[in-house]
Parts: sequence; C-alpha cells; structure tokens
Amino acid sequence: MNFCTLCPFQCGVDRVHRFGVCQLPNKLLVSHVQQHFFEEPFISGECNNEGTGGSGAVFFTGCNGRCVYCQNYKISQGEYWKKAPLHVVMAKELFEICRELVCEQKVHNINFVSPTSYTALLIPFLKKYKSKLGVPIIWNSNGYEKRETLQALKGLVDVYLPDFKYFDDAMAVRYSKMPNYLKWVTEALMEMFDQVGYPQLSADGFIEKGLVIRHLVLPGHLENSKKVLTWIRKTFGSKAYVALMAQYYPIHRSIDFPEIHRKLIGEEYREIKEYFLKLGFEDGLFQDLDAADSCYTPEF
Ligand code: SF4
Repeated sequence: MNFCTLCPFQCGVDRVHRFGVCQLPNKLLVSHVQQHFFEEPFISGECNNEGTGGSGAVFFTGCNGRCVYCQNYKISQGEYWKKAPLHVVMAKELFEICRELVCEQKVHNINFVSPTSYTALLIPFLKKYKSKLGVPIIWNSNGYEKRETLQALKGLVDVYLPDFKYFDDAMAVRYSKMPNYLKWVTEALMEMFDQVGYPQLSADGFIEKGLVIRHLVLPGHLENSKKVLTWIRKTFGSKAYVALMAQYYPIHRSIDFPEIHRKLIGEEYREIKEYFLKLGFEDGLFQDLDAADSCYTPEF
C-alpha cells in the first residue's frame, strides 16, 4: 500500500501517514451494511415473506470521485463522512459482516459498493475468505479505475457492476472531478469484460458472473448517453448488458450546476430508450423513471 497508485489519480502517497485525493487511510472503513432490494432484479431478487434475500451490500466509506449529484454523498464525500463516527473494520470483522449477510439474511451475493480505494486490502481479504462465503462477489464501482489494479482482482470478483457516466472528459471534470475519464473508464471496462464476460445467470435467475454496465442518464445530456451506448455496443457487441438508470434527481451540489438541477423528463428518457433499442442490444434493463426518488437511496 505504500505510495498508493491504485486508481487513476496515482497520488503516490503513503496512506499510513498522508492522504491522497480520496482522503482515505490504509484501513477498511465501512459506512453502511444492508440487504439491498433495489439493485437490478438479477442481483437483488425480491423481498420474501421471511425478509431474507436481496443483495448483501457493504458500502465502503469515501470515493475517488466527487460527483456533484452523488446520491450517497453523506458517506462518499470527505466533508460529510469525516464528521461521522468512522467504522474501521479488520479483515476478520468484514468476513463476519459478510458471513452474517449470507448465512442469516440469505443474501444472493456480496456487493462491495465503492471498493476501489480499498483494493489493496480487499485482494488479500478475498483470497482468504471468498471461498468461505460461497456467493458471487460483486464489484460495484464508479468505473474510474486502473486496468493494472483490476488485473489483480482476476478470479476474485465474479460480477463487475461499474458506472459508465460520460463520453466527454470535460463533463467528467465538471461533474465528477475525474480527469482523462474516457481513457480510464474504457480501459477498465475492457479489463472487466476480459475477466468475466457476458452475464451468466443461475437456474433461479441470479447473476453468477459477468459485466453489467450502468449508465445514468443525465438531464439535458442526451448526446452523451448516446455516445456511451454506441461505444458499448461497438466494443462488446449486441450481448453487452447495460442497465439504463433513470434515478437521477438533483441533490448534493447539483444546485451549483443549473443545467442539471432538475429531474430527467419522460421525453428525454424515452429518446434514450429508443436509441438503445435501435442499437440492437439483445438484453438490458430500463430502470423506471419513477426510480428518480430519494426513497430508492439507502438511508445513511
Ligand atoms: S486510491 Fe486514493 S490515494 Fe490511492 S491513488 Fe486513488 S485517490 Fe489517490
């Protein structure tokens, strides 16, 4: 972990003594754990009468991105999470958290949310505990990652669930403070695909392996969405799996960006869905427009 270069920022700091862009120490910090029922249906399933099932979401503290519209800003952005009590967990403790989700709450998978800055700690964790958990491991990241870092996760992660937000580096800097975004995200997606390929489902319909790319449609930025979808179709073919997200709502610092300080409207979303269908994807998911509500965001 000395001289951290895990993500595209390549800060080169020793996180034992100093902070890089993500401001995270060389320890596992967990902000929130829950059975999550609002991920894609083949990840979450439905809540049954016993209240078991769902995706076993472990939300790590912090993020290397700083999206002005982040719905998880209270746990992702340093100005918020630093004011809350920090929950440092040792690897054994993280295993117990995951084990309880699997054995008691019968989740279908372990879903690591915002894991990128912790990759160096999660690799030995997964090497030691993955086989004991016995469910698919999901890497639910923002996609702003380095190919070499992801290569070290080969065989340890079953499902990659990255975002692909922008096809425009200027947008990525303006809204997420992620420089050279397109280069990094496209390389990361190709590495993920090389490792896990197209989604494979179990007999009961839950994902066991594969790449699922999430794209959040931003209001007023339809050309961006079309370019993202076109790249995915050209690069990975018609079997690529995209989850088109409509859950954008103005929150956090979006008030400072008037052009995105509103919800997506039906007409915009329809245009993107039609474009998606025209591209000839064989499968995929359209989130309902009514998902654009804070009730779909976990309470942190
Ligand atoms: S994980 Fe954090 S410290 Fe390491 S390179 Fe990325 S932003 Fe910098």
